[in-house]
Amino acid sequence: MGELIKGKAIAEKMKVQLKSQLLDLKREFPDATEEPNLRILSFDTPASKVYQRAQVAIAESLGIHTDAQEVSTTDSPSRWCPWDVTPEAIEAIIHEWNNNPKIHGIFVHQPLPPQISPQWISSLIDPNKDVEGIHPQNSARRFFAKSRIGSCTALACMELIKETGIDLEGKEAVVIGHSEIVGRPVTMLLLDALATTTICHVGTNKAGRLKEHVQRAEVLVVAAGKPKLIPGDWIKEGAVVIDVGINVVDGKVVGDVDFESAKAKSSWISPVPGGVGPVTVMIVMRNTLEAYRQQLNNAKVQNS
Ligand code: NAD
Repeated sequence: MGELIKGKAIAEKMKVQLKSQLLDLKREFPDATEEPNLRILSFDTPASKVYQRAQVAIAESLGIHTDAQEVSTTDSPSRWCPWDVTPEAIEAIIHEWNNNPKIHGIFVHQPLPPQISPQWISSLIDPNKDVEGIHPQNSARRFFAKSRIGSCTALACMELIKETGIDLEGKEAVVIGHSEIVGRPVTMLLLDALATTTICHVGTNKAGRLKEHVQRAEVLVVAAGKPKLIPGDWIKEGAVVIDVGINVVDGKVVGDVDFESAKAKSSWISPVPGGVGPVTVMIVMRNTLEAYRQQLNNAKVQNS
């Protein structure tokens, strides 16, 4: 019977570490007048509103300013970007944030309205302020295992795996999903840890070969966004299962793995909710502090 990988408890531990990291930064840069500042761009959807409120509360509790309420593309200030916002208006906001030295991190919530392409908006953000690790330059650094600021969800998956104590070297790892923000970056991180890594996607499913890959996975990361995609009887006995999926079924949030049956087969399993999600938010904060540190350091070098 699998032990739960408790994302909330991991997030609490990270919060303590981040508070102490911020104190260290204040000692390292005693002349810094600015507090770390994260700007969040959210569109007017129920999911984004819930996520942004949670993110703002955590940021403020760590001493990271958010100023989310100043985001506006209309005459009346609003916390949310209207769904029919133009690309030009978004470009102007990101441009202003990129050039504002008091802003250290930028985070854009998904889902995006159809007129805003995810690749386009990722490439607009200053790579030094990209706390989600989605700018092409940061994605490329990940390929060479040189990423300082990486994909939040992928890094969260690795924190959860670390909690199990498993040594990834030589293990069979299988990732379901090949998106730019989750599947691909987590594959790179598993490779960095010398796991033998297979990446599966819609094509694998169409070919009817998902089950055979899942069955040999010692570490399974599922990020497809399809409820109950993975039944428990596919899971290898003793596997570590990380469920990234967030789906709403009958008003309840569930993952991509059939939790109860998978728990019976696994050694460790992350629940949804309460698994990857809370740790992902904390990684955004860790990336924000890292962006803050780098920007303070750059300013110090320029002034010396
Ligand atoms: P996406 O839609 O961009 O990508 C989905 C991936 O799954 C694709 O690679 C696709 O080929 C694959 N896929 C879809 N259906 C499949 C099937 N039937 N069989 C095999 N592969 C299939 O999604 P995403 O942005 O990568 O997000 C994936 C899931 O993770 C979503 O549920 C999302 O809400 C969730 N998510 C959670 C967090 C978190 O912090 N917990 C963060 C980001 C995303």
